[in-house]
Amino acid sequence: MSDAGPACGAVGALSAVHLDALARLAPAHPGSLRAVLGAGPELRCALGRHTGPHMDVLHEGPAEISLWARWSGTGGAGGAGGGDAVLALPDCPAADGGEACGQYRSHPGGHTWEITDPGTEERGRSGDGD
Ligand SMILES: [Zn+2]
Ligand SMILES: [Zn+2]
Repeated sequence: MSDAGPACGAVGALSAVHLDALARLAPAHPGSLRAVLGAGPELRCALGRHTGPHMDVLHEGPAEISLWARWSGTGGAGGAGGGDAVLALPDCPAADGGEACGQYRSHPGGHTWEITDPGTEERGRSGDGD
């Protein structure tokens, strides 16, 4: 079976629910609030092809826990359990050669190196100042 394929790439935005949850988690994740606010409100799904709610990593660490924003895609009826949330999830333990998977444990879709980015190569998370 091959999970390789294009990234989901769905876009979303931080909601009040996300910020509320982030504020609660922030003390255990130093720097996370600053990082999230600095990166702007846009979310972009980091998963490969999948069903269910979308996920974007907000902040990595400490240790092997990262903060992920979850949001539902199209607001279809009957979508229970897929609302906005911020989750502290353990990192995916998979690695290919020297490259560790950048997603969370038990994520759907392919690992980081199996996913091709359908969009631009632009990445807004390198953290360089203006
Ligand atoms: Zn997605
Ligand atoms: Zn993985």
